[in-house]
Amino acid sequence: MQIHIPTMFLMVIVVSLTMASCTAALWRRDQPEGLGYWTLALTLHGITFILYSLRGVAPDLLTVVVANLLLVSVFTLFCEAMLQFQQQRMQRLWLWWPVLVVAPTLMLLPDSQSGRVVVVAILSTYQTALLLAIMLRYRRQTVGRGQYFVMAAALLGIATMSFRAVGTALGMAPMLQITSTTPIQTLTYLVSCMGMLLASMGLVLMTKERTDAQNRTLAMHDELTGLPNRRYSMEVLTRLLAALSRGGQPLSLLMLDIDHFKRINDNHGHLVGDHSLQQLAATLRTRLRTQDHAGRLGGEEFLVILPNTTAAGARELAETLRRSVEQLGTDGQGHAPLNMTISIGVCTLQPRTRLSPPEAMELADQALYRAKQNGRNRVEAAA
Ligand code: GH3
Ligand code: MG
Ligand code: MG
Repeated sequence: MQIHIPTMFLMVIVVSLTMASCTAALWRRDQPEGLGYWTLALTLHGITFILYSLRGVAPDLLTVVVANLLLVSVFTLFCEAMLQFQQQRMQRLWLWWPVLVVAPTLMLLPDSQSGRVVVVAILSTYQTALLLAIMLRYRRQTVGRGQYFVMAAALLGIATMSFRAVGTALGMAPMLQITSTTPIQTLTYLVSCMGMLLASMGLVLMTKERTDAQNRTLAMHDELTGLPNRRYSMEVLTRLLAALSRGGQPLSLLMLDIDHFKRINDNHGHLVGDHSLQQLAATLRTRLRTQDHAGRLGGEEFLVILPNTTAAGARELAETLRRSVEQLGTDGQGHAPLNMTISIGVCTLQPRTRLSPPEAMELADQALYRAKQNGRNRVEAAA
C-alpha cells in the first residue's frame, strides 16, 4: 500500500486539535488536574504538523526549527500535565533541557534531514521515557485504569521513537524529505495518532476515576467525624451477615449512644456537642482493630461491627470503650468538664445465623434500650 505522508499529517492535525478541544472543554481553572497543560500540548502538536505540512513553502526556520521546538515542548508539557495531576513537582531542568537544546542543535544541521530526524527522535525517546517514569512512580496512588492508557501510549512512543532514531541513523530507509514515504515514517505518524488518542483518553479517564473515588468517599462517610456513615455501615453489615450465614466465627455488634447528649448541647453549645462527637469517633478509631468497623448511624448513635468476636470479647471491648469515654474530660476548649458518658448494647451472632441487617441491629438496639433503662453509662448484652 502506498502511504501518502501529507495525508497522515492531516490526520495527526485533526486528531490533536479535536482531542485538544475535548480536554479544553473539561478543563477547570479551580481544579489543576493537568488538563490545561494537556490542552496546550495537543494544540502545539497540531500546530507542529501544520508547520511540517508547510515544509518547502514556508521558511525552514519555521517548518524545521520552530516546528521541532514545538514538538519537543509537547512532550515536556505532557510530563508537566501528569505531575500537576499527581500534585507533584520535579527538577524543572529534567523536563525542559530537551526544549533548550533542540533549536541550537537543529541549526547546526541545516543540510542533514536524517541528522535532524535522529536528534528529535532521541529527544522524544527521552521525554516519553520520562513520562512513563512519572506514571510508574505514582501508579500506586492513582485510582483506576486510565493510567494504563497513558502508560501504553508512552511505551508505544518509546518503541517508535527509538526505532526511528536507530533506523534513520543506520540508514535503513533513507529519508530525503519529511514527506518521504518510508516504513519508519508510516509507523511514526500512525503511532502519533494512536498515542495522542490513547494518552488523552487516559488522562480524561484518570480525572473521572479520581472524581468518582472522591464522590464515593463523600457519599460513604460522615462529614463531622470522618467515620463511615449509615449507608457504608449497612453495606459492611450486609456482607458480614451473609458470610456469617455460611459459617465461620461469631460476629458481634455494639450499638452506642451518648447519654443525655441534648444536655451537652444545651449546656455547652452545639460546637462543643460537635467536638464531643469527634472525640468519641477518635476514641473508637484508636481502640478498634483494623478488621473492626465503626460507623455513625446518625445523631449521637454509633454502630461498631466486630468480626471474629465472641460475646465475652465484645463485652470486654464495650466496657473499655465506655470507660475511655467517661475519662475524656474536657469540652475541647480546656475547661468545663463534660462528663460525657455512653451506653452500649451488645449482641453476638453465632455462625450459621440467618438475620437481616435490621434484625441484627434490632437485637443490639434492645440491649442499648435496657442500658438506658438501667441507669445509662453501662453495657448490656442481648439475651
Ligand atoms: P439519651 O441519654 O436518652 O440518649 O438522651 P439524649 O439527650 O442523648 O437523646 P436525644 O435523642 O433526646 O437527643 C439527641 C441530641 O443529639 C439531640 C440533637 O440535637 C443532638 N444531635 C444530633 N446530631 C447532632 C450533631 O451532629 N451535632 C450536635 N452538636 N448535636 C447533635
Ligand atoms: Mg443519646
Ligand atoms: Mg440517640
